Amino acid sequence: MTSTNEAGRSGLILILSGPSGSGKSSIYKMSIGELGAIEFSVSCTTRAPRPGEVDGRDYHFISRGEFDRLVAEDAFAEHAEVHGNCYGTLKSELLGRVQRGIDVLLDIDVQGAAQLRKLCAASCEFRRACAFIFIMPPSFEELERRLRARATETEESILRRLANAKGEMAHASEYDHVIVNDDLARAAAEFTALVRSLRDDPARQIKS
Ligand code: 5GP
Repeated sequence: MTSTNEAGRSGLILILSGPSGSGKSSIYKMSIGELGAIEFSVSCTTRAPRPGEVDGRDYHFISRGEFDRLVAEDAFAEHAEVHGNCYGTLKSELLGRVQRGIDVLLDIDVQGAAQLRKLCAASCEFRRACAFIFIMPPSFEELERRLRARATETEESILRRLANAKGEMAHASEYDHVIVNDDLARAAAEFTALVRSLRDDPARQIKS
């Protein structure tokens, strides 16, 4: 990771985690207009597309066999089983962009974030690029209300996501930043301000 953008730094790898229904995607969709120039890392998943989801835009929807082949080829920077399905970030989604100075946003679970943290421990260049951000719902009750209001999941999937949420929230302290999504516009503004400060952080500039 040696090239830079015009600001003199390599791209950021913005790692966003939080329970299903915490509002991660609403926050970054609201912020992206103001931040500009962030590319979304499109994950691979074995889960079926939801209505309205587009292959190659929301996810690469692939079979379990194809997923296993990519694991065997070491194509993933991280991968995990979440809510009974497999998800993974392709190395090809990250490295070239970061080298070209493009900021990349990852929406991944706590297991995947832990794997990337290990890569950070092994490479100071990777650590310099990464920022770990956790989106916290204001309460468990509110999370349940949002998941039900979303109406995209079966009852079984809602219960599974709620059961996993407590375990995920227990990992919030491992993240560099925690944003409480008590109010979407406020949380999005906090996220926008955070990304701006990361872009300006002298510790993230490449010294040549
Ligand atoms: P959903 O099925 O609601 O799109 O995503 C379920 C969970 O999987 C979310 O917590 C999301 O952050 C996580 N996820 C999505 N893509 C990836 C990925 O590439 N890796 C990992 N570890 N988790 C992912």
